[in-house]
Amino acid sequence: MTSLYEHCNLCPRRCGVNRLRGERGYCGETAALRLACASIHRGEEPPVTGQGGSGTIFVSGCNLGCTFCQNWQISRRTDAQTMGREVSSEEFAAICIALEEKGAENINIVTGSHAIPAIAEGIDRAGERGLKIPVLWNSSAYETEEALEILIPRVDAWLPDLKTLDPALASRYFNAVDYPERAKATILKMLSLPHSLIIVRHLILPGHLESTREVLQWLAHRAIVSIMTQFTPVNGTDNMRYVNQEEYEQVLDWLGELGIEEGYCQEPARSSDWLPDFGRRNPFSARGDDASELSSPVWHWKDT
Ligand code: SF4
Repeated sequence: MTSLYEHCNLCPRRCGVNRLRGERGYCGETAALRLACASIHRGEEPPVTGQGGSGTIFVSGCNLGCTFCQNWQISRRTDAQTMGREVSSEEFAAICIALEEKGAENINIVTGSHAIPAIAEGIDRAGERGLKIPVLWNSSAYETEEALEILIPRVDAWLPDLKTLDPALASRYFNAVDYPERAKATILKMLSLPHSLIIVRHLILPGHLESTREVLQWLAHRAIVSIMTQFTPVNGTDNMRYVNQEEYEQVLDWLGELGIEEGYCQEPARSSDWLPDFGRRNPFSARGDDASELSSPVWHWKDT
C-alpha cells in the first residue's frame, strides 16, 4: 500500500511527488508516518468521549493547511519541520493498545488524510494484536474516493469537518478551491455507509456567517451536526478575532429555523488559554501536567 506514496495522488492536491524517496508535497510529509502525541481526551462530543475518554492520536503534517489552524505546531510546515516523531506500524499499533489499556473508548485518529496507507497498516497491526475498541476517523474531509476506500474497511465511525461550501473562502484560507465539492462527496460517501456513527463538525469563521448558514442548510436533515465556536486567532492569522455573542446567537437561531435538533454546540472561546502546545508532554494542559481534566497523555513525540 505504501507504493501509493511513489507518485503521490493520495489526496485531492495530487502533488505527484515521490514520498518514498523523501520528497515532500503540500502536506510537508515524506512516506514516514510521524505522530505528535496520543492521549485520553475528554473534550470531544459526548458519544465520542463516552465514559472513558477518546483515544486521540494526532498525526503530524496536514494536506489542507488552514491559515487559522489551532494545531499549527504540528500541521503547518514553515521553515522548520513540524513537531512529531516517526513511528513504525508496530509502534502505531502499540500506541493504540496502550490507549485501550488506559480505558479509551475508541481510537480517534486526527488529521491523517495525507498518511492513510501507513495508518491503515498500523490499524491492521493493532487489530492483529487484539485491539477491540472502534476506530474513528477525524479529518477535514479533504480526501479522494480512492483513499476513502482504504479506510472504509478499517474505520467504525467518522468525524469529518465541513469547513465551508464557499470556494472563495476555501481558496483564501486553505488554498483549496475544490474543497467544497470534495468535502461534500466525502461526507455523502460516509453517510451512505451502513452502521456508522457520523458527526459533521463545522467551525464558525468570525465575520463569515453566510458561509455557516450555507453549511447548515446543506447538513440539515442529513447528518448529526457539531458546531464549533472555539475559533481563536493564532500566530500568522491576520485580522481575525473570536466569535462574538451576536454571531453565536444568530447561529443558534438558524439551527432552530432549519430544524437541526440532533447535534452539539460549544460555548464561544474568550481567550487563547485553551490552545494546545505540542511542545508540552500534555499539550492540552496549561501547566503540562500529566493529569488534567481535559486529557491524559499516553505517548508524546519527545518521549524516547
Ligand atoms: S498527500 Fe501530501 S504529497 Fe500526497 S497529494 Fe496530498 S498533499 Fe500532496
